[in-house]
Amino acid sequence: MGGMTRFFKSLFLVELLKGMRLTGRYLFSKKITVQYPEEKTPQSHRFRGKHALRRYANGEERCIACKLCEAVCPALAITIESEQRDDGSRRTTRYDIDLSKCIFCGFCEESCPVDSIVETREYEYHGETREDLLMTKEKLLAMGDKYEEEIAADRAKDAIYR
Ligand code: SF4
Ligand code: SF4
Repeated sequence: MGGMTRFFKSLFLVELLKGMRLTGRYLFSKKITVQYPEEKTPQSHRFRGKHALRRYANGEERCIACKLCEAVCPALAITIESEQRDDGSRRTTRYDIDLSKCIFCGFCEESCPVDSIVETREYEYHGETREDLLMTKEKLLAMGDKYEEEIAADRAKDAIYR
């Protein structure tokens, strides 16, 4: 750019006017800011939020303690202990997910052969201590009981892939 051009651009505040034109354009255009938490953006049915353990309709927990989810978890966030019941079936005695390690990759739910461990749409939570972010089996089952209807509906949308 020549010296004269630069001089006149500087004299007539061309860059400033260009900036103000851009500001003015957005000042009167439709606002796209979402007023969270009163307003929320649409959510995918595949959203990966807080985990849950599901039950069958008769109340029996789905998990068969195969530990595939524990093995596949890249963050080593899942800890499972299990034992055999009197009827010969195997069930977990401990199922923990450490949310402070979890990266919400979804590998656990993809690996589960019985659709037991799933990620819900729940994302509004926090923890003030480490224990708050440790999802125990009881907490996970309670999440499953609370959101079963929504989870089942979301899974049904993906039935063709499952
Ligand atoms: S979402 Fe990923 S990181 Fe989190 S528990 Fe499941 S497999 Fe592990
Ligand atoms: S949640 Fe699923 S993958 Fe994990 S141990 Fe239970 S049955 Fe196996």
